[in-house]
Amino acid sequence: MAFDTDIIILGAGPGGATASLVLGKLGYRCILIDKASFPRDKICGDALSGKVVDILRKIDPALVDRLALDDRHLPCWGLQFISPAGDVLEVPFRLDYKQRSASERAPGYIARRQDFDHFLLNEALAQGNADFRPGLSIRHIERIDGGFSVSPSQGPALTCRLLIAADGAHSVAAKALAGRELEPVHHSAAVRGYYTGVADLHPDHFIELHYLRDLVPGYFWIFPLPGGRANVGLGLRSDVIAKRRLDLKKVFQQTIENHPEFKRRFAHAEPEGPLRGFGLPLGSRKRSLSGDGYLLVGDAASLIDPFTGEGIGNAMISGSWAAKQAVAALEAGRSDAAFLQAYDQNVYRQLGDELMLSYQLQRLAAYPRLFNFVVRKASRNPVLKETISCMFEDLDMRERLRKPSFYLKLLFARS
Ligand SMILES: Cc1cc2nc3c(=O)[nH]c(=O)nc-3n(C[C@H](O)[C@H](O)[C@H](O)COP(=O)(O)OP(=O)(O)OC[C@H]3O[C@@H](n4cnc5c(N)ncnc54)[C@H](O)[C@@H]3O)c2cc1C
Repeated sequence: MAFDTDIIILGAGPGGATASLVLGKLGYRCILIDKASFPRDKICGDALSGKVVDILRKIDPALVDRLALDDRHLPCWGLQFISPAGDVLEVPFRLDYKQRSASERAPGYIARRQDFDHFLLNEALAQGNADFRPGLSIRHIERIDGGFSVSPSQGPALTCRLLIAADGAHSVAAKALAGRELEPVHHSAAVRGYYTGVADLHPDHFIELHYLRDLVPGYFWIFPLPGGRANVGLGLRSDVIAKRRLDLKKVFQQTIENHPEFKRRFAHAEPEGPLRGFGLPLGSRKRSLSGDGYLLVGDAASLIDPFTGEGIGNAMISGSWAAKQAVAALEAGRSDAAFLQAYDQNVYRQLGDELMLSYQLQRLAAYPRLFNFVVRKASRNPVLKETISCMFEDLDMRERLRKPSFYLKLLFARS
C-alpha cells in the first residue's frame, strides 16, 4: 500500500516539534499536523525547567544559545517554596549563581508558550524535513493495512505507516488507539492568568510555589515573565477538586483578594486577558506508551510530573525518544507493538524513577504540618538548603526525601 508519508506527527507543541526536530537531524521526513496556526497560546505556567535546556543541548548546543539570546525567554535562577505556615525556602538551581558572569546561560527560563512553542516549531521547520500542515484538526483515526488514516474535520484524509501522537491532554489518538480515559486521581486541573504590576517579583526571576493550607497538595504560583509581566495560577488534583466541590476560578480570585500577602502584592496588579483553565494528565501511574504502529508523546502519554506539574521537558524527552524509535522501526521494517516497546522502556528508564518519586512527594505535600516542618527547618539550615538545591540536579538527593531517616536528621539538625 502506498502511504502519503512514513511518519505523521500529530501535534506541533513541544512534544511533536521535538520529534520533528530529531527526525530532521536523523535525515527523515514527516508530515507535522496541528489544528492551530502558530504562534498559538497554550494554557500553562510557562516555566521551562533545566530539563528543557538539557534536551535542547543534547539535540544541538546551538539551540540553547538561540533560546538564551531571544529576550522573550526570561532567565530563571531558582525557585521559592512557601509553606502553608508562610515560611520561605529559597532554592537556587545553582549554588554559586550570584557569582555568574554576564554571558552565562541560565539553568532554566520562563517564556509565554505562545513564544517558546513558536521558537521550537521554527527550529524544527528549519530542518526542512517536515511538511507542516497547520489549521488541520484531526477528528478521526482509523487503522488501515500496515498503518493509519487520519481524517481532519475538513479535507482529505492522510495516511502513514507510523503515527507519533503528540496531540496533548485531550489527545484524540490516545483515546482512539490506547483507550485512554481521564483518571481523576492521576490528573490535575489548573487555572492561569497573565498580570502586570505584581509587586515584589524576585530580582533573579525565581519562580514562586505557594503551598496554601486549603490548597495542598496543589499550589498557587507566581512566575515572572519578560517585560514585568507575571504568569499567576493555581492547580490541584482533579479528585480533590471534585471531593471539595471547588470552583478553581473562584478560589483563585479569593486568594488574590483575601490572602494578606497577595492582597498587598496584587493591589496595583492588572489582569491581561481572562483567567483560563486546562487539564494536566499526570505521570503518577505507569502506562503503556505505544502499540501497533503508534507512539504516544508528552501529555498524550500522560507524562506530567505529579509534584511540580512540569510537562514541557518530559514532552520533549519523549518526543526525542519517539523520533529515534520511529527511525529504528522504519530501518527494521517493523512497526508492531513488540518492536515499539523499546520506546516505553527508554522513556521510563529516563523518567520513571523521577515520576514515581514526585508522586510520593505529592502525597507528602498533602500533610501541611509535615510541609511546614520541612520548609521551616530547611530555610534555617544552610546545609539542608544546599541539599535541597542539589535535589533539582540529582535524583539520588530527591530519593532521600522519601526516607524516614531524612526527617529524623531534619528533626535533630542544628540551624
Ligand atoms: C495550567 C497549566 C500550567 C502548566 N505549567 C507548566 C509549567 O510551568 N511548566 C511545564 O513544564 N509544564 C507545565 N504544564 C504542562 C505543560 O503545559 C504540558 O505538559 C505540555 O504542554 C505538553 O506538551 P505536548 O507537546 O505534549 O502538548 P501540547 O503542548 O498541548 O501540544 C499539543 C498540540 O497538539 C495540537 N492538537 C491537539 N489536538 C489536535 C487535533 N485533534 N488535531 C490536530 N492538532 C491537535 C494542539 O493544538 C497543540 O499545539 C502546565 C499545564 C497546565 C494546564
